[in-house]
Amino acid sequence: MIKRAKILLFMAAFLGSLGPSAFAADTAMAFTVSMPKPETHIFHVVFRCDGLKGETQDFVMPAWMPGFYRLMNYERFVSNFRAEDGEGRSLPWEKTAKSTWRVVSGSAPAVVVSYDVFGNTSFVASNFLNEQRAFVAPPGLFMFVEGLLHHPVTVAVQLPPGWARIATGLDPVPGRPYTFSAPDFDILFDCPMLMGNQELAQFEVKGVPHRMAIENVPESVDRRRMAADLQRMVQAATDLMGDIPYKHYTFLLIGTGNGGIEHLNSAACAFNGKSLADEKGYQGWLSYIAHEYFHNFNVKRIRPLALGPFDYDEENLTDMLWVSEGLTVYYEDVVLVRAGLMTPEQFLERMKNAMTRFENSPGQRYQSAAESSLTTWGTSGVGGDRNTTISYYDNGGMLGAMLDLAIRHQSANRRSLDDVMRALYRTYDVGKKRGFTNAEFRQECERAAGGPLAEAFEYAATTKDVDYAKYFAYARLKVEIERQDAPGAYLGLNLRAADGTLTVVEAEAGSPAAGAGLAAGDQLLELDGTKATPKALNDLLAAKKPGETVKVKYARAGASKDIEIALAKNFKRIYSFIPMSAPDPLQTSILKDWLRKAL
Ligand SMILES: [Zn+2]
Repeated sequence: MIKRAKILLFMAAFLGSLGPSAFAADTAMAFTVSMPKPETHIFHVVFRCDGLKGETQDFVMPAWMPGFYRLMNYERFVSNFRAEDGEGRSLPWEKTAKSTWRVVSGSAPAVVVSYDVFGNTSFVASNFLNEQRAFVAPPGLFMFVEGLLHHPVTVAVQLPPGWARIATGLDPVPGRPYTFSAPDFDILFDCPMLMGNQELAQFEVKGVPHRMAIENVPESVDRRRMAADLQRMVQAATDLMGDIPYKHYTFLLIGTGNGGIEHLNSAACAFNGKSLADEKGYQGWLSYIAHEYFHNFNVKRIRPLALGPFDYDEENLTDMLWVSEGLTVYYEDVVLVRAGLMTPEQFLERMKNAMTRFENSPGQRYQSAAESSLTTWGTSGVGGDRNTTISYYDNGGMLGAMLDLAIRHQSANRRSLDDVMRALYRTYDVGKKRGFTNAEFRQECERAAGGPLAEAFEYAATTKDVDYAKYFAYARLKVEIERQDAPGAYLGLNLRAADGTLTVVEAEAGSPAAGAGLAAGDQLLELDGTKATPKALNDLLAAKKPGETVKVKYARAGASKDIEIALAKNFKRIYSFIPMSAPDPLQTSILKDWLRKAL
């Protein structure tokens, strides 16, 4: 009890500096998590709240986990909910909403709720427990009291016999083994916990400890190399950002499948550990970990307004995931190049492959990066119907390169996208302690460039074809596009599918569609007599041969017109880069600064 009083005094002192939202020193919130029968996959959770005010208290389970943009409806794994006062007397309660348990607490000085959570899905946004290990996805294990998300909280864990370790981004409570504290529930929900007997490794960057909890990597893989490489990666990323914004960081290296989720001072990364045994797999792993790590800046701190503080009950929509995810795809490799862990040649190889993949995907004719960002909640972030949707991961990475090269070119190589990331971090996260609007993001980019970046932002907002050649030329690189014959026929339209209509965004220069006079703004109505939909058009182009025709009915300025278009030979675009032979000094200096050496 003395220890608790001390902690409360400390918290009161800490919170005192935050102003009027501080909590009275006589309230406390503490979880105890136990796993009495790990083989049943059931966690037992006890949540004690002292000093709550009010006749009733709503205990709420979040519906999703920030970083994984899909409703998980965690309440479905909860059972055996009970409520008592501090003396063991039952308190009445009722479910008042899907994820809300309302407890009639009256004047009870303490409310103790307890419940079980079933966890048997091995995934970074799900709880898992068996006889060997446990993974806690906190929004799926811990309820919060409505209105008190900002309250400090502790978590004490009773490990099953034979288990010795807990790896998490939470701060340990000194003197209390397996007990952690969080200044509020946003931090608690942001700190997954890995429990069991996983292997630990540690390194420091700028005096800050970085832990690796490893449970899936074969012994043959060199641990010292893993730690040394992650150390260089963290060094490069924090040099780039000019700050190291946490007191400790934990890499949770787990599982067998795929999927990682970033957090403020940790990342849960699932992967096949055997893949690290060969060099290509190891390189891919480094990019993946660098991605999750760089997110501690881009998305956790540098973020659109919608991405924190969070509403845990429902979808938090934004059309800027192409910034939060896409630019992180870009920076995962930039950081590795800076760290000397990836050569410029490897960087360009990956860029070229992403361009080839993206430009040959049918969805890029229909969906923009901004639209893909908004619709991800229905599709878990990796596209829905691939005929009409894109991945903001692929496209966002290239948009990052376009923005970076445009800023370097327009500022005569005095500034880059790095300056934008630093400015967003300092101005909005550190300074204003909030996310940014779309306009503020663009403003920071244009400030760095010293002028408008209309075209790059149009690429993000529409399906307009990217003029890669122009942008990479800023960095002394010539883009070569090899056309390989592909099955089906070619029309050459980029479209926007919305509200049941198909509107032309662009008829590609030299394409059959452009030759027939179709232009931006035209609305496609019918194709060979059937309603024009993305699927109908894709099916038709897949079935037709070059030289065959398609009858197109379209609307322009309120009038409908019919035309017949002869289709051309379909092709696949294969991209590659070659250094330009007679560059000017600006091109040479941009390439050198961008990829850290001349090619
Ligand atoms: Zn990501």
